Amino acid sequence: MKALNKPALIGLIGGLSWASTATYYREINTVVGERRGGLHSARCLIHSVDFQELAECQSQGRWDDAARILADAARSLESGGADFFLLCTNTMHKVADALEDTVSIPFLHIADATAAAILTTDVRTVGLLGTRYTMELGFYADRLKSHGLTVLVPEADQRRDIDRIIFEELCRERIEDTSRDRYREVIADLNARGAEGVILGCTEIGLLIGDGDSPVPLFDTARIHARMAALKSLASCEPTDS
Ligand code: GLU
Repeated sequence: MKALNKPALIGLIGGLSWASTATYYREINTVVGERRGGLHSARCLIHSVDFQELAECQSQGRWDDAARILADAARSLESGGADFFLLCTNTMHKVADALEDTVSIPFLHIADATAAAILTTDVRTVGLLGTRYTMELGFYADRLKSHGLTVLVPEADQRRDIDRIIFEELCRERIEDTSRDRYREVIADLNARGAEGVILGCTEIGLLIGDGDSPVPLFDTARIHARMAALKSLASCEPTDS
């Protein structure tokens, strides 16, 4: 059977970090392959930025500069023909509004995708793991709360370790057993405080831990976001196996 028309072209702003952009690329192509069969793969454009530059903007609080760099990336995806786009990181959703205002193609917000996935389950109180910006600046938890979720963040010393492991290890694709143990402890503590599920609110955390590391369901934002993008792309065409 032949497709009636092509899947929508997915635009991805990646490189934040490259290690998690690889996760997106794999997940999107896996979903498309499963759905369409044969040798079908995803139609996508990736604009991958230099993470050092963005990480410096974050640590120096230069969010407007970061927004300008990402807006340029969004414009390049739009002019390249992307039908919609996503930002392959949680942290930089701090400037999501500026990106949405820059282009006319739709934007898939990672926290909306994650909340939608959580709301298909019974979980309503969630723990949030991520960079210190994601856990502490409020923009991310507020977005989740707008979907009716209650959000718990780790204690200060736990947040420091979670954040350090992301930047010093996971964004460089370094996987350490001692770091996995620390994440397990923090997840167990969030559960003891009432979390019925835990959001892996940094797109690299899924490289380190999985379902076997947690007594409660984990919601991996990278995989949820990527899957939603693949399904949105496919929604514009008929299924095919050829
Ligand atoms: N990928 C991470 C996230 O999802 C961290 C990288 C960044 O700070 O942008 O937040």
